Amino acid sequence: AVEVRNLAKSFGRNTVLEDVNLTVLEGTVTAMIGPSGAGKSTVLRCLNYLERPDSGTIEIGGHRVDAQKRFSKNELYALRRTAGMVFQHFNLFPHMTVMKNIALPQQRIFGRSKAEAEARAQELLERMGLGDKGSTYPNKCSGGQQQRIAIARALALDPQVMLFDEPTSALDPEVGVEVLEVMKELASEGMTMIVVTHEMAFARDVSDDLVVMADGRIIEQGDPHRIMEDPQSERAQSFLHAVL
Ligand code: ATP
Ligand code: MG
Repeated sequence: AVEVRNLAKSFGRNTVLEDVNLTVLEGTVTAMIGPSGAGKSTVLRCLNYLERPDSGTIEIGGHRVDAQKRFSKNELYALRRTAGMVFQHFNLFPHMTVMKNIALPQQRIFGRSKAEAEARAQELLERMGLGDKGSTYPNKCSGGQQQRIAIARALALDPQVMLFDEPTSALDPEVGVEVLEVMKELASEGMTMIVVTHEMAFARDVSDDLVVMADGRIIEQGDPHRIMEDPQSERAQSFLHAVL
């Protein structure tokens, strides 16, 4: 579902990604961990063209992203709905009800009628355990609820891949658990996911593949249990030692 080859990216003279290679098979979960500044967010942002790669190629859900590619507005919409993104800070529209947050993108992007879009939104809200929240505004919801609303909004566009960038980092641990449960459920339903996270238990128990990044490179990649128990590189050892 996702194939990244020789991805590189610099900001000015700061080389942020170097020769990143990554394959994510359909229906699998890849967790990405590593120290702050390693380039994890930048990888995700390149995947849906929030950043343009300097070199290398990305295939994602039938789309190709590379340095030469120029996206038309419609192609960019198509890419962004293929790869649903959930951020640390929810990014909900504060002036819209929860229902409208989830319904409006479907109306805009798919041309669904308001009734259709709202029916789909309600269905997703119920799945998230938030069936009664449609008419509330985001700021009246807890952080964990807002994050589940953000997930529902992404799912409403029928993505082929879900990209999560530290979805629980801004949440209290008790509340983060609710979000992790939803993610676990998505994984068990076969959603293809790339999850940047500090939740080591999630990375170990839910993901099929683990990617450890440091200094713009992937330094370790493979079975989560194997890597956590027996990391090969010294850099990965010291990082895991610090977080486990
Ligand atoms: P964290 O765990 O703190 O979120 P990260 O692994 O996600 O870290 P990135 O956000 O990808 O790291 O950042 C990697 C490097 O790229 C950092 O040195 C950062 O300062 C730099 N960087 C990221 N975005 C930009 C930008 N838009 N302009 C300039 N430098 C940037
Ligand atoms: Mg980041």
